[in-house]
Amino acid sequence: MAGSKLTIDLDAIVANWRALAHASGHTEAGAVIKADAYGLGASRVGPALAKAGARRFFVALSEEGAILRRALGQGPEIYVFSGHMAGDTASIADHALIPLLNSPEQVARHRTALPGHPFGIQLDTGMNRLGMEEAEWRTLSADLIADGPRLIMSHLACADEADHPMNAAQLAAFRRMTDDTGVARSLAATGGILLGPDYHFDMTRPGIGLYGGLPFAGAQPVVHLSLPVIQIRDVAADETVGYGNAWTASEPSRIATLAAGYADGLIRAMTGRARVFAGDTPCPLVGRVSMDMMGVDVTHLDRAPEVLDILCRAQGVDTLADAAGTIGYEILTSLGNRYERSYTGTGA
Ligand SMILES: *Cc1c(COP(=O)(O)O)cnc(C)c1O
Repeated sequence: MAGSKLTIDLDAIVANWRALAHASGHTEAGAVIKADAYGLGASRVGPALAKAGARRFFVALSEEGAILRRALGQGPEIYVFSGHMAGDTASIADHALIPLLNSPEQVARHRTALPGHPFGIQLDTGMNRLGMEEAEWRTLSADLIADGPRLIMSHLACADEADHPMNAAQLAAFRRMTDDTGVARSLAATGGILLGPDYHFDMTRPGIGLYGGLPFAGAQPVVHLSLPVIQIRDVAADETVGYGNAWTASEPSRIATLAAGYADGLIRAMTGRARVFAGDTPCPLVGRVSMDMMGVDVTHLDRAPEVLDILCRAQGVDTLADAAGTIGYEILTSLGNRYERSYTGTGA
């Protein structure tokens, strides 16, 4: 049987990167391709962006950096958000990764294990997730700056809400901690880029916007996901569909069973709330989403469909995410590895 097809448009990713680089003004745009490029394949996305001119990449873990280095070859910089963790030394050295040191412990580890190896610094400006606190930074900054960090960065907690007072508070803290350092700085991810030039500093770090997600409302769609129909049946009024008899037909209906479910990242929370599409025509999910399958009401279609789309022009990642009570980031990174993946565009 032909499987479910996930198509990833590399040209759209490149166009989104260019648009966000343009929105970054005179500031250089890097590219965040952690979590396997938000589930879309770092080994394909990375080289496509490098070809388009991206020179600095960001990943979450050194293991991701190692895979990306093999795909990119020598040259582009690869920064690691989790910094220099215990056990990372060989990978950082072998793959020329740049750890963003997060704590006095990481600073000590890096200096002992890899003296002279490039590093950057991550500061906490209020998110309380990663990075050195202001007091720690005050103690260490003179010595660290003397060692020549490549970059000082911090991350915004509320950048997708333009009016949130946290944005200005974090900006003020970042300036206070870094204005006199003379080192290249980065504060903005996708949301921060859209907050305007005050947030841009020397480098921006877009992630989700590259992959077509909010808060970059002007993004080109990147993913298309088609699910084949395994079987279609007629059900009479008052018959039920799926586990727990969760849906009951109110009238005679035609139900299609599709070949994807929550094991493919089409999460169970979509039950009763999400839709799939036959072209532009929506078809509601009926019954519970199960591990490998889901039911769809196709009574209103004039032809029996062979495939139905769940990510397409009519329904992007954020619309589907909304229906499932989550965000586009989680939909993308959950997609799983059972799809037949193909890439389109000049980078493919
Ligand atoms: C994930 C992440 C980014 C990218 O954020 P988006 O909202 O996807 O653009 C940038 N910086 C850090 C530290 C991150 O964790």
